[in-house]
Amino acid sequence: MENNVSADMTNEISYYAGLDIGGTTVKAVLVNDLAEQAGPLTEVRSLVKNGYEATFGQLDQALDQLAAGAGIERSAIKGIGLDVPAPSSDGVIWGRANLGEDWVGTDIRSKLSARTGIPVFMTNDGNAAALGEYALRPKHLGSLMLIAPGTGLGGGLVLPGGRSYEGANGLSLEVGHISVPFREDDGELPTCSCGLKGCAEAWVSLVALRRRLRLELAKPEWSAHPLNEGNTPVEEKAFKLREFAEQGDALAVQIFKQQGFILGYAIADLVRVFDPGLVVIGGGLAETSFRDQYMAWIQEGFADRAWPVYRHSPLDAMIVTTEFEWALGGDAAAAIGMAYTANELFN
Ligand SMILES: [Zn+2]
Repeated sequence: MENNVSADMTNEISYYAGLDIGGTTVKAVLVNDLAEQAGPLTEVRSLVKNGYEATFGQLDQALDQLAAGAGIERSAIKGIGLDVPAPSSDGVIWGRANLGEDWVGTDIRSKLSARTGIPVFMTNDGNAAALGEYALRPKHLGSLMLIAPGTGLGGGLVLPGGRSYEGANGLSLEVGHISVPFREDDGELPTCSCGLKGCAEAWVSLVALRRRLRLELAKPEWSAHPLNEGNTPVEEKAFKLREFAEQGDALAVQIFKQQGFILGYAIADLVRVFDPGLVVIGGGLAETSFRDQYMAWIQEGFADRAWPVYRHSPLDAMIVTTEFEWALGGDAAAAIGMAYTANELFN
């Protein structure tokens, strides 16, 4: 028998869950109706490749763990924010990305809502992380653009008031695939993973880093470089490049400098379109010891392409019109953004 008194008391507070489905883990965060985090960040294994039913089982587990971690009944969870690493329109996923096959064409939002009996908001991972960065800056009320170099180059835009801009097809802010006029040593535009030539992602991503590293290591000037020793695959070498840059290695610094400059150059065009006021740089570079230097390279590229008005006010040169900040949420940003949004929408 349930104790009616305590049931009434717990009913007074509603909770909202943020669920971030990644390729390897599902990250989950719970907030109360005052948008304060309740209980710890939770992680369960992601089973996206096994299909959405298997993944729903994992989401169930995550919701149970969130409730247990906060010491509440699961029935007190009144809203879910869910992000998936694929484009969707109105809850229906239509791009496969890294998911198993049965996701495409499925109304994930309705199915999860029916299964849990909880209303669900759904977006892609870039927008979710941008919403998280917005939520982590409670005094920031303007718009915010997140640019996140990782395996690819993703992004998200939060409008004033804290709503993400989704676009008609869930495909807004595909920032990695705007074109930049940078060419390889042989004069060619590099080919992007999307099939197009000259995308920003073909310069600013882990995939790009591997290509640049392979090309550079083949040059005589780097023949004695420690990364040329042994038969380590280029994937592993690319992972080591950050450590090398942290130690001031000339090759690593050169590659990251080029990457940062091109990123800033691309951001200048995005700022010209959206004028967000605040640009947040996400991805793993936020955790490196050379991040200040990397930000300076971004600024250099930005200055090369941005009109002066996007850098300083013409009325008062002391006023910076486009601020740059590092991301605060790390890899929890998307789950935080989804919990925040669920509270905003369903509270
Ligand atoms: Zn592309």
